[in-house]
Amino acid sequence: MKNLKNNLSSNSIDFMRMVVSSMRNTAEDQTRKTRLLSLITKVDPTYSNYDSKFSTNTLPLLTKLIISASEKSDLLSLYSYKNSKLTAFRRAISTDTSSTYQATCQYCTVNSVNSLDHFVPKDLFPEFSVHPSNLVPSCTECNSKKLVRWLNNNQHLFLNLYIDLLPNKQYLFVELNVISLNKVDVNFKVDNPNNIPVQLYTIITSHYTELDLFQRFKDKSSDIIIELTNSIQSSLSNGVSLPMIQQIILDTCSRDKQHKGYNYYQIILKEALIQSSDYLSLF
Ligand SMILES: [Zn+2]
Repeated sequence: MKNLKNNLSSNSIDFMRMVVSSMRNTAEDQTRKTRLLSLITKVDPTYSNYDSKFSTNTLPLLTKLIISASEKSDLLSLYSYKNSKLTAFRRAISTDTSSTYQATCQYCTVNSVNSLDHFVPKDLFPEFSVHPSNLVPSCTECNSKKLVRWLNNNQHLFLNLYIDLLPNKQYLFVELNVISLNKVDVNFKVDNPNNIPVQLYTIITSHYTELDLFQRFKDKSSDIIIELTNSIQSSLSNGVSLPMIQQIILDTCSRDKQHKGYNYYQIILKEALIQSSDYLSLF
């Protein structure tokens, strides 16, 4: 899991203006464009407010804009995953903080990106349906588990990958029960022996729990275990010693953390296996 960079080239209300400009009247609704243009003026102050809360990581203090049901419907109609402006935007923002394109959903690091999540749910705040800082590249599985929830005791329920800065410390751990080389019972959990600030650790805990990440990692684990076992066996058959293999794998994991994040579940699992005497004793 890595933080994402929300590198906007224009200000947020200009982005809404650009999306509105791509909309057309239809034969059934010939005043749509006029209504959308007038909504820009109405929404403008709330965009500045969002930008200010975003920059200080205080989004839970947002207040709702009073709007009619038809205005809500118009605002929600602005968002479409397939809208060309939003597609171009998604590609531009799907980069981590080192500007590397991330095709994998960073909410889970399991699935490919195939949706945009509204961090502040658009059903609760339709005015932010196309606020660019409110859109997070994600997978539909995470998006559908998140639903309209976003707060927990006035704090984020899920990590905001733009502004909740992930620690360079381990918080994801895995317990192993080694049965055979290719059959290991794994149980992922979060823990805080490295003293991550409580407020951030609380968000990390609810994020992993609410997105069902421990089970989703577990479901993916057998492929990783088989791949690691095969690679160790192949190195052993080439005459490399087990302690040397262990060191090489730990070094690789350490380097991979720079690209995949300090708590990428595949690295955490590999590190735990290669340091498990129960697992190593089977070679
Ligand atoms: Zn996901």
